[in-house]
Amino acid sequence: MSTIFGPVFSRRFGASLGIDLSSSDKQCNFDCLYCELAPAPAMAYQHTVTPIETIITDLKESLIKHSNIDVITITANGEPTMYPYLDTLVEQIDMIKGAVQTLILSNSACLSDPTVFNTLLKIDQVKLSLDAATPETFKKIDRPAEGIEISTIIESITRFSNVYTGKLFLEILFVKGVNDSDTEVDALNRILDKIHCNRIDIGTIDRPPAYAVQGLSFEALYTIAHHFDPELPIHIVSRTHASATPSMYSDHEILTTLDKRPLSIDDINALFDTESKTRFENLLSHGKITQIERSNIIFFIPTANIHRKRSK
Ligand code: SF4
Repeated sequence: MSTIFGPVFSRRFGASLGIDLSSSDKQCNFDCLYCELAPAPAMAYQHTVTPIETIITDLKESLIKHSNIDVITITANGEPTMYPYLDTLVEQIDMIKGAVQTLILSNSACLSDPTVFNTLLKIDQVKLSLDAATPETFKKIDRPAEGIEISTIIESITRFSNVYTGKLFLEILFVKGVNDSDTEVDALNRILDKIHCNRIDIGTIDRPPAYAVQGLSFEALYTIAHHFDPELPIHIVSRTHASATPSMYSDHEILTTLDKRPLSIDDINALFDTESKTRFENLLSHGKITQIERSNIIFFIPTANIHRKRSK
């Protein structure tokens, strides 16, 4: 079984070649309710370890076939930072990747391990998950292996964000009735205010989950986005955009909405009706609205606010 997959194209990260560090079976220190893989007991370490030589040989072959990619994404059927030779692997990828960026998708649980922490510092782009702020919700949604505490994860992410010089993304996945309460969002907000990152992606379930749980509507995600501090670089990631009901916005409402929360073109297409989109285009062409790029995503904000919005 090849350890490489793709290329796949993602609006957030571009053309990506994926490395699967657990291609034979799911090996994860979480057993998330929303996981798109089958349920499996959380484990502390990998039982089946793919040799580095296999991965590098597969990667070299794929890089010859697919030269036009943006990122090499280190991931797994499970948690990639559990791979015991991750540091050596990253060094070997760096030797053959040329101008292509490296990206890792992690659940953040191993970041308190100094070796993992230092390895992730060497990767060009890091995406860390943080689904909860309180111990009860964390245990409910992510179902971690014994000994993994949310307080340690939060402390590690905060420390990491203070020293990391690459692009750091956070991802929060919301599950209906589990981590979407005002109390939990308030608690997350207080933590996010202390973390320095380029973008915070909030999303929900859009593939069949491991357990019988439900995702949120786009409207519910949008309400949550508004609940966060407006200075936070929140980006709604949701395939449920398509099911949102478009509404009518006046010029003033468009500017007020963008003032509270910058919107991407997907958000605008989901939220604005045809007339409102025309108003939006007019405001854009008259310079009342400006485009800003935040880590590969174009957002729109009122031009008057361009200096007020935070970026890393
Ligand atoms: S961390 Fe990822 S792979 Fe592991 S259980 Fe959660 S969703 Fe699945």
